[in-house]
Amino acid sequence: MYACCNCGAQDGEELQVQRGFRILTAEREVPFDIRSVLCRQCGLVFTDPQPDPALLASFYSAQERDAFVAEDGDDRIPGEGSRRDQAAWIEATLGSLSGLRVLEVGCYEGFLLKLLRDRGAVVHGIEPQASAAALARERWAVPAWAGRFEDAELEDEGFDLIVLSHVLEHLSDPRAGIARCYELLAPGGALFIEVPNVLRPRFDSAVDFFTFDHLFNFCPGTLASLLQSFGLQPMAVADDFPFPAFRMVARKGGQEGRAVAGDPQLVDRVRGVLQGYFQKRCAFLTRLRARVDAELPGWRSEELRIAIYGAGYHTECLLDATDLRKAELVALVDGNPAKQGSRVLGLPVVAPEGLAALRPDVIVISSYDFQDEMLANLRRLGLGQVPTLTFYEATVAFSNVAAHSA
Ligand SMILES: [Zn+2]
Repeated sequence: MYACCNCGAQDGEELQVQRGFRILTAEREVPFDIRSVLCRQCGLVFTDPQPDPALLASFYSAQERDAFVAEDGDDRIPGEGSRRDQAAWIEATLGSLSGLRVLEVGCYEGFLLKLLRDRGAVVHGIEPQASAAALARERWAVPAWAGRFEDAELEDEGFDLIVLSHVLEHLSDPRAGIARCYELLAPGGALFIEVPNVLRPRFDSAVDFFTFDHLFNFCPGTLASLLQSFGLQPMAVADDFPFPAFRMVARKGGQEGRAVAGDPQLVDRVRGVLQGYFQKRCAFLTRLRARVDAELPGWRSEELRIAIYGAGYHTECLLDATDLRKAELVALVDGNPAKQGSRVLGLPVVAPEGLAALRPDVIVISSYDFQDEMLANLRRLGLGQVPTLTFYEATVAFSNVAAHSA
């Protein structure tokens, strides 16, 4: 049994197992049981056993194909709203950023660092995806080093602020990651962390809150105890934004680290929230299947030729959740050129431009975050008349497939 990386206890309670989940890598699909465990001592939730590092590396290299690709004339900024919100919150919490030396670990395409630089900070980024690091340099002139945090050569006590935004939950050893941040922080320096909040799990998506690449699931209490064990003192925490995460800033003061104590109340609270989550999720998946049956009459009898827009993690989850894997799927559709022409989940991946030639009866939109963009793209391609099925916007009416079939 895995020893909790926060408190060290070997006292895990199984919460859920997602059996035979097929991890999409560039070469093949690897079955993996995602077993989520609650530490009965401190309340941290983590995957046990942890996936093999080679499988993780292979998964991320396949994910890199999903990375944002700016096409000519495409000036969208991924996560723009949340980056702007983070920058404003950091300034409100720390005061003036003028002259501060800032390091962001996992800076992706660098927009947060650009915003912090606009406020006077001197910024540096580290990004494991080489294509994203290149974008940071080209698009925002942000000095982003491509590589892993563990391999970066940086000066100890060199930074006034270190930022980890949606990074810590991916690390195989969060304790080692925080230890390295502690070394890199100047005395009095601040560490900003934003991670998904296990006390606010999103249940209304085909994608389970417990994903393969989130190896650890924190709440403000467990993150605070982890940081305090290094002598980092939490100064501020917030979770009042639309997606199910929280952010925290902790200061490197003169304090000694202190051992993580058990917290039975927090353990009970996490367990209670997650029991509610599993019930709500079960009900949501039942509704999802009912909507597929209602909106795609005849799909089980292979009368409908179905194309699915989206060839990534969400589609994998959607096919599992709905049984649509057994339908007459003609293709997956994806705008990413790196995927087009390959096979994912046993299906050919075609460009949106190639969709009309396949003459699908219906297009299933498979994305939580980008479904409106996908719908707009279909209209742009003159496919607005093909019935579509979306899952997430009450305001986006389902097209009437029954009428179309008749
Ligand atoms: Zn623990």
